[in-house]
Amino acid sequence: MLLKRKKLHISNLNFYAMRKKLATTKGKAFALEALAKRRKANAKKEKIDNSKLPAGSPMFFYCTSCDDLADELPENYFISKPKKLCDECQALKDLGWLE
Ligand SMILES: [Zn+2]
Repeated sequence: MLLKRKKLHISNLNFYAMRKKLATTKGKAFALEALAKRRKANAKKEKIDNSKLPAGSPMFFYCTSCDDLADELPENYFISKPKKLCDECQALKDLGWLE
């Protein structure tokens, strides 16, 4: 009885490990596809040139990976560092998927 239970436990573990791997692979492909779409769409978009905005305007910062808006801070933003990546690209970077 004990042996049987142990066997079942191992096969359950394998199943979950396999499912997790599959989900991750699919998730990565999906995320990278979304990134490619974002890059393509943002390449056509015009970016806001902070130097051309009137004094007192907020500053706009764009993602270094996909050119999406990453951060918007008040002009005196020295109080906090602007983000270099948008939230989506940051998530990809955290997972080690960002090329
Ligand atoms: Zn991005």
